[in-house]
Amino acid sequence: MQAVRLLAAHSLRLQDVPQPQPGPGDILIRIEACGICGSDRHMYAGEYPTAKPVTLGHEFAGTVLAAGSAVTRIKIGQRVTGDPNIACGTCSQCRSGRFNLCAHLSAIGVQRDGGFAQYLVMPEGQAHVLPVDLDPVHAAFCEPLACCLHGLDVARISPGDSVAIFGGGVIGLLMVQLCRLAGAGTIVLSTRQQPRRELALTLGATHAIDPAASDALAQIRAIAPGGVDVALECAGVPQTFTQSVAAVRRGGAVVIFGVMPQGQGVSVAPFELLVNEIRLQGAYLNPLTHARAAAMISARTLALDCLVSRIVPLSEVPAIIASPPAFGEIKIIARS
Ligand code: NAP
Repeated sequence: MQAVRLLAAHSLRLQDVPQPQPGPGDILIRIEACGICGSDRHMYAGEYPTAKPVTLGHEFAGTVLAAGSAVTRIKIGQRVTGDPNIACGTCSQCRSGRFNLCAHLSAIGVQRDGGFAQYLVMPEGQAHVLPVDLDPVHAAFCEPLACCLHGLDVARISPGDSVAIFGGGVIGLLMVQLCRLAGAGTIVLSTRQQPRRELALTLGATHAIDPAASDALAQIRAIAPGGVDVALECAGVPQTFTQSVAAVRRGGAVVIFGVMPQGQGVSVAPFELLVNEIRLQGAYLNPLTHARAAAMISARTLALDCLVSRIVPLSEVPAIIASPPAFGEIKIIARS
């Protein structure tokens, strides 16, 4: 079968490899769609640890072709999405329910072969069943949506809250929709590209501001005097981190969702966090949220087609991952 293999940093190739065989507790799926994520670019650049060689792709969906002898729940022919993050279940974090912080976390498409391939094997327990008539391109959104749901859980948005979202990539645009569904009264998206701002307004943002046109904080303060209840940092750059902390009201919450390079520092004023009781918290991966994401995608709750920039064959994936995102690109989906 064909698979997009990361051989070493900056070396990503479409190769012929043997089709994987399911073990007793595994299922074999025929991959139908797999999203390209910014993390794939970090892995390509050697900025995020992976096994090597490994097939990339952690936002995948497909149809079950075969099941091992110990598989009981998943049936051949079902369409499934896979939670890529496999927790050990026995470390102290797992035993306290914090599976995303597992000491031995192993991810499909990172440490184990992933979804930029024709076939994939995964443990039955990672699979979530989807409707057979669901568009596989939509199914590939389950993984990023599951991460966003954890971000929303961490944010603890109440109906009527005001929220500022920094960064209008696929994550920021999913967050806009989730905040709307959570009942936020004011949803401000800060992003530089005008088409994204226009799109955000159709997806539920009440305001979309251009941080390059004038001071983002002044614009947010004009909309939410005293600051917003919650800031969601979804760009992963120092400037938006600083803006997120400054944008919240006294007693507000900042969720760090964007990924900044390891070791990258930003300046914060602990005094301001202290006297304003600002809650500053990371939201990492998808602990126990993949099933909820699958339920939302199955119910067609979100607008997804508008987030798909291109659908490409596997053969185009190495060059796309090796290049910076094109202007206007939101989400590219590979289909084998
Ligand atoms: P993305 O496509 O890179 O989108 C981020 C967007 O932020 C950029 O496209 C850019 O849009 C905007 N931006 C950059 N600088 C900005 C600035 N100074 N002010 C306002 N906006 C700015 O990434 P994504 O796929 O949406 O993901 C967002 C972040 O979440 C990434 O860092 C990703 O690695 C991370 N992530 C985290 C998790 C997790 O579990 N925590 C899961 C998935 C992804 P404009 O050009 O329009 O400004």
